[in-house]
Amino acid sequence: RVRIRDRYESVSWSFYQLRQMIEYKGIRSGAKVIAANPEYTSQKCPKCLRTNKANRDRKKHHFCCRECGYGSNDDRIGAMNLQRIGMKYIAEVAV
Ligand SMILES: [Zn+2]
Repeated sequence: RVRIRDRYESVSWSFYQLRQMIEYKGIRSGAKVIAANPEYTSQKCPKCLRTNKANRDRKKHHFCCRECGYGSNDDRIGAMNLQRIGMKYIAEVAV
């Protein structure tokens, strides 16, 4: 038995293991792997960039922005935000 707020982490593949595999595969293929802070990536709207906890419905796995109305699957939203963080890093830091 797990608390609802811990459920995602408990049933998901170990984040550590996943990161290890991504880094391993990245190095093998000559790609650079960037680690990004995933905090709020499922609550932030990738369109208007406003963050609101109420944007995400964890039970339905759906994201709907309270400000602009943009909606999609919450994992997709998280991936879009991580991509933006990665692109920002490449533009500002990696030359
Ligand atoms: Zn929005």
